[in-house]
Amino acid sequence: MGERIVELAGVAKRYGGVAALKGVDLVIERGELTAIVGPSGSGKSTLLHMIGTLDRPSAGTVRIAGHEIGALDDRELSALRARHIGFVFQQFHLAPGAGALDNVADGLLYGGVPLKERRERARAALERVGLGHRAAHRPSELSGGEQQRVAVARAVVGEPDLLLADEPTGNLDSAAGEEVLGLLNGLHAAGTTVAIITHDGEVAARAPRRVRMRDGEVVR
Ligand code: ADP
Repeated sequence: MGERIVELAGVAKRYGGVAALKGVDLVIERGELTAIVGPSGSGKSTLLHMIGTLDRPSAGTVRIAGHEIGALDDRELSALRARHIGFVFQQFHLAPGAGALDNVADGLLYGGVPLKERRERARAALERVGLGHRAAHRPSELSGGEQQRVAVARAVVGEPDLLLADEPTGNLDSAAGEEVLGLLNGLHAAGTTVAIITHDGEVAARAPRRVRMRDGEVVR
């Protein structure tokens, strides 16, 4: 059996009277590429918040890279997130005033890495996503697909145990979406563990493993 990067057991989440998750068990092993799919309102975002340790469950346990998050305070939780998880969002979330290189280098801010090394590693990560020649470009000078590739570089520059992508192609036209999916597939082929949250059946169809959500439960 492989190393468990994500381990959710009986995870439930309530928002007031709404049961957004109703007892989810989910294991993601090192090296997997998993698509988490389901219609709007099925609990995908809530599950992302649980896997990403952005929020705590109402019941059940969440383990990331062997650490049980219920045992950690908020500061320890931030440190765990910074060390183990890289995030990619639908809206890119790049700093508009900074060039691509500095945006990527920001992905190492919490690791105590000196500036010079941050920049060197950021350059290597930009090259990995095919944007070495765009290092000085600001987000407004890049296409949507390029911006998302910068965001992917920022997410992986610290070599996280898990790359967690929330609708990564949701803001892109189909050609740029293909490029970003190709990039995520390439990272997976090189050993990165990837989880993609999507409502897009085509994106999901290409993933080797699919976890289907409905009404707050994993149905398959
Ligand atoms: P999805 O990402 O699949 O669209 P969500 O996880 O966003 O699904 O939502 C699951 C359910 O939980 C929905 O019924 C939604 O309305 C509810 N929900 C999610 N977040 C909140 C919140 N912060 N407050 C109240 N209800 C919420």
